[in-house]
Amino acid sequence: MNSSFEALGLSEALVRAVSELGYTTPTAIQQQAIPAVLSGGDLLAGAQTGTGKTAGFVLPILQRLATQPAPAGKSRKPVRVLILTPTRELAAQVGESVRDYGKHSKASAAIIYGGVSINPQITALKRGVDIVVATPGRLLDHVGQRTVDLSQVEVLVLDEADRMLDMGFLPDMKRVFALLPRTRQTLLFSATFSDEIRTLASTLLKNPAMVQVAPRNSTVDTVTQKVVLVDRGRKSELLAHMINENHWFQLLVFTRTKHGANRLAEFLNKHGVTALAIHGNKSQGARTRALSEFKSGSLQTLVATDIAARGLDIDQLPHVINFDLPHVPEDYVHRIGRTARAGATGEAISLVCADDKPLLLDIERLIRCQLPREIVAGFEPNPHERAEPIVRQRSQGKNGYGQRDRQHPSTPRRSSQGQQRKNTAEQTPRQQPSSKSNGGPARTAEAHAKPKHPRPAPQPRRPIDSASTVRTNIPGLVQPSHRRGR
Ligand code: AMP
Repeated sequence: MNSSFEALGLSEALVRAVSELGYTTPTAIQQQAIPAVLSGGDLLAGAQTGTGKTAGFVLPILQRLATQPAPAGKSRKPVRVLILTPTRELAAQVGESVRDYGKHSKASAAIIYGGVSINPQITALKRGVDIVVATPGRLLDHVGQRTVDLSQVEVLVLDEADRMLDMGFLPDMKRVFALLPRTRQTLLFSATFSDEIRTLASTLLKNPAMVQVAPRNSTVDTVTQKVVLVDRGRKSELLAHMINENHWFQLLVFTRTKHGANRLAEFLNKHGVTALAIHGNKSQGARTRALSEFKSGSLQTLVATDIAARGLDIDQLPHVINFDLPHVPEDYVHRIGRTARAGATGEAISLVCADDKPLLLDIERLIRCQLPREIVAGFEPNPHERAEPIVRQRSQGKNGYGQRDRQHPSTPRRSSQGQQRKNTAEQTPRQQPSSKSNGGPARTAEAHAKPKHPRPAPQPRRPIDSASTVRTNIPGLVQPSHRRGR
């Protein structure tokens, strides 16, 4: 195994950029993926968030852009790399990584996602960028407006491809694929390998190299996981007690529903814990603000639904709490991937009442281990509490998370028992997509979102982040927007 970035064949500019970020040794996925991507072939990579997968594809892509000039005779500055992500947050984070890793390189990038004004994105695309990082919905809006040309894309990356399928993006993805040259390099990153992912890989990838850094559906070893048993009605009280007793700071708490997230944040604030909720009914501005306060350490607790939290990269997050267990066991793996990132240790605690027990068994079956159970003194559960069916919240509003308004029928999800999985609260179909009859892009959930507040620039993920030294151009990160996304 190569144990330095130089040994992986990366240029001096890239090695300098990562060493300025404090990276000394490539992570396992980087050691495997970087040479594979540099070789120019397709790649199927199994890596969950927190493994350093982003650098695993961004670094060799930047190297390719620097060493292989765009074919002559084409348009002035073609889009050469397209990175698709399921959520705006992940698009923003990947964009930041491109900026960080490319700070000594000449590559330029644009981040394209909904919920913010489309105009700065159009301006950036008109100027010409090498890399587009995009959520599928907004990208198709640009395609519809002819503000992006994907006909010269050399590298396609699907980041968190499993999430894109879960969120019903397959039809949009197919429309994007149809616009790309057939001859290209395709890299598919996925935390989990469902049958749908395997089918997608078999249709998209040609003789791919395969790398995997964690066994299928495994959790990260450095996360201490445990279950705290409690009565249904005492979870909020117990959580406030645990936070105050243990003096926890920077907790990410997952609830199953948006309403539950709001209620819990309110409860915590009344009990001495500063908390904000982040979910699909919040405006893009509110989400960005909550996230940046949380990242900067001024907000103690972020209460989130699964989709809202997807792709969040918060360095060394010490505690993840499952206030409710997820309906989809794979979401447990994603949730706890928020902690113990890049070598740090972390703790994942699940508050489990009688209703949650079947979900807990599903999770334990998936991760193939039994989680230790604990009881907190004063919160002993009533052994006779009877399980009640878990009522799912029906969402009435816009989701605003880059996913379509509907769950696509071609991507049914099945539980480990083979039952049809119901949509999670944020995946519940809500409004009819207003597809154009001419086959143009359907209006996206992103496009419907109306940001109510100017978006502050997000906190830098890394201490070394000087805009003056950055050559990439990432409008989506800095432009305030009061306008509809479309
Ligand atoms: P990712 O899985 O790409 O979201 O990366 C997770 C975190 O690991 C990010 O905060 C990266 O900045 C960090 N990271 C990536 N590669 C390395 C490395 N080789 N050494 C230390 N940290 C890294």
